[in-house]
This record gives sequence, structure tokens and C-alpha cells, in this order.
Amino acid sequence: MSSRCCDKLSKCPFFIAVKNLGEESDVLNEYVAVYCCGPFKEKCFRLTHMDRFGEPPGDNISPSGLDYRDYLHI
Ligand code: SF4
Repeated sequence: MSSRCCDKLSKCPFFIAVKNLGEESDVLNEYVAVYCCGPFKEKCFRLTHMDRFGEPPGDNISPSGLDYRDYLHI
């Protein structure tokens, strides 16, 4: 992954889940491209939650703040 990616990438439950899903979800791979390694990185809900509350949200929470599992049924 390029250096413009989020520095939490290797330990992030969301990213690890998407990686394990492979090509299964276009939407989630797009999230990685837009948030984790893209222009919306600073707007990631997981990061803002960590800043605000000092702990990450649930492992199921995507960068948009929604449960990423919902996207698997689209
Ligand atoms: S979901 Fe957020 S915290 Fe996790 S790697 Fe992507 S940008 Fe970083």
C-alpha cells in the first residue's frame, strides 16, 4: 500500500475485513480507495471517533459510520 494510506491500515478491523473479502464487495473496496488510501482519509468516522472518545468504534463500523456488513447485501 502506498504511503498516502492511513497509518492505521495494517491494524484496522475495517481494512482487514475488506482485504479478507477480496473482490466480494465493490462498495467496500471503493471505501478503501476513497477513505483509507484516498482524499477522505481525514473524514473517516473510525478516526474521528477515536479522536473524540479515545477509543475506536465497533469493528463492524466503516469509514462512513455505518455498519459495513449492510453493504454486503447490496
Ligand atoms: S477505516 Fe479509517 S482508520 Fe481504518 S484504515 Fe481506513 S481510514 Fe484508517
